[in-house]
Amino acid sequence: MADQDWDIETDLLVAGAGPGGMTAALVAAIEGLDVVVCEKASQVGGTGATSAGTLWIPGNRPSRDAGFKDSPDEAAKYLDALIGDDDASGHRKAYLGDGPGVIDYLTEKTDVQFLPCGLHPDYRNNMPGAASAGRAIIPQNFDGRLLGGDFERVRPPIAEFMLMGGMMVGKVDIIGLLGRYKSFGAFRHSAGIVLRYLTDRLRFKRGTRLVMGNALVARLFYSLKNRNVPVMFDTPIGEFIMDGDTVIGAVINSKEGARRVRVRKGVVLATGGFAHNPKYREAFMPSPTPHYSMAAKSNTGDGIVLAEAVKAGTDSERHQGAGFWSPVSVTTREDGSEGLFPHLAMDRAKPGLIAVNELGRRFVNEAVSYHDFVEAMYRSHETADTMPAWLICETAFVTKYGLGAIHPQTKNLSKHEASGYVAVGETLEAIAEKIGVDAAGLRDSVERHNGFARTGTDEDFGKGDLELNRFNGDASHTPNPCLAPIANGPFAAMAVWPAEIGCSVGLSTNPDGQVLNGEGTPIGGLYACGNDMGSVMAGAYPGPGTTLGPAIVFGWRVAMHAAGRSPGGGGRS
Ligand SMILES: Cc1cc2nc3c(=O)[nH]c(=O)nc-3n(C[C@H](O)[C@H](O)[C@H](O)COP(=O)(O)OP(=O)(O)OC[C@H]3O[C@@H](n4cnc5c(N)ncnc54)[C@H](O)[C@@H]3O)c2cc1C
Repeated sequence: MADQDWDIETDLLVAGAGPGGMTAALVAAIEGLDVVVCEKASQVGGTGATSAGTLWIPGNRPSRDAGFKDSPDEAAKYLDALIGDDDASGHRKAYLGDGPGVIDYLTEKTDVQFLPCGLHPDYRNNMPGAASAGRAIIPQNFDGRLLGGDFERVRPPIAEFMLMGGMMVGKVDIIGLLGRYKSFGAFRHSAGIVLRYLTDRLRFKRGTRLVMGNALVARLFYSLKNRNVPVMFDTPIGEFIMDGDTVIGAVINSKEGARRVRVRKGVVLATGGFAHNPKYREAFMPSPTPHYSMAAKSNTGDGIVLAEAVKAGTDSERHQGAGFWSPVSVTTREDGSEGLFPHLAMDRAKPGLIAVNELGRRFVNEAVSYHDFVEAMYRSHETADTMPAWLICETAFVTKYGLGAIHPQTKNLSKHEASGYVAVGETLEAIAEKIGVDAAGLRDSVERHNGFARTGTDEDFGKGDLELNRFNGDASHTPNPCLAPIANGPFAAMAVWPAEIGCSVGLSTNPDGQVLNGEGTPIGGLYACGNDMGSVMAGAYPGPGTTLGPAIVFGWRVAMHAAGRSPGGGGRS
């Protein structure tokens, strides 16, 4: 192969600059490898840029230092209960065992810095080994100005998550903004971030105070830049160059044309999974195949397509489900384009809201995790149309708590009604007629729910029973922070549809991220991480940070293996 005509020679080629790929590239560079990143889009970040940026890392040091006690062993019990205790491949052991060390590694050697979330319950906290606090961490806010002109290269968050057309806000900011006239501290914080934003807008297209997933990807990108790791934009990976069954290089397609890249250690597939690949959606996802996806549009399953061409396999048989789900409502943006708002934590758990199917019947504890909510939609849909499901509340609820992309303190819903985002009616019957739901069923469901609200016990679905429910409810509301009567019109209804925020099914790999062929043998020189790698969670959703935690930990493991820092490692050679 020596006479191959190579355009670029490097140790490791990483395809995809999301959290998974950038972590692999960064760690490989720290471990002394030459690294090139090729990114299909014109910006880094992928879906990660639009995410909440939370990582589920049991036993992590930021939480331990803040006084939260936990251990990977307790988390193992929880995952055994949630997923089953079969970890023959060793992925779970590797993930839990290395997680805290990976966070220490990044903290010590890079600008990727984290904060403990503190109280942030696991999503099934009634199971053995589940924790209420200390497993979730978030990236520290990041000052986008540090990137200079390359700030433009960070994919922005979804429009619905920004205020005033470009200001990012995290949970603390939202609390501050809502309470800005109630305390001096809240006012000062709110005034500070708004002033910073207005100043930013003199120079930048959006605010540079980055939070959540945007801070995570910006921190990874900044660290890559500091290590002089090149990121080639608008450059998708095209095909592999093989020597027998071993990957020795790849063709990447830059705007200037195709380039042949020789890799001494390997190629890492981190192209974000199959979200926008209709063939894989239909093959792996439940029926009816969800129409909507929250993933970056550039995630078209390229990594899986390429790997399958060299006899790699996917791991769908291992998974409880193919996606990590969220209910989404469909917005119409000011420019007329369609947006998606994920109903993650702000509205469903609050008191005074129910979700119903076409029969007007409740089908779920509305305050369960976004993933569990969508799974319940699918179960309900087997007997009654639940695509969409309808969130029902008083318009006074919308003013108090917000609903989807409608912010709290919104009194006039006419704009949202006119765009079709929300339906409003003076009576439950009027609402039912507008949205095509059985009126008698809806009235009956509301009256039954209102009885539960009075006693504080939801006898049908247990809304408010789980700690997660109460965490996202309204602590000031009694006797149950998640239950209040829906009694006084006007009423509001909003349609929610299933969508995935990440794919669970991916390529079969070993715990070092080496992609396996049909016989279970590693394909030389080929790695996968992020959502290109079949998830260690196997389609279950234990808690906040279920995809980013593994993306970072296995990104690290891939790099350590390629760099020869793990047993049997050293890439393809
Ligand atoms: C609203 C929202 C909130 C979320 N919050 C969380 C959270 O708090 N915690 C959590 O764990 N998860 C969260 N997620 C999910 C999480 O963002 C994704 O699972 C994660 O970003 C996947 O990382 P990745 O690196 O695999 O892929 P991505 O982040 O999607 O990055 C993949 C990159 O690969 C590039 N690419 C695609 N094809 C090619 C190609 N052929 N060549 C080169 N590059 C290519 C893409 O352009 C993209 O930049 C959230 C998702 C959403 C939508």
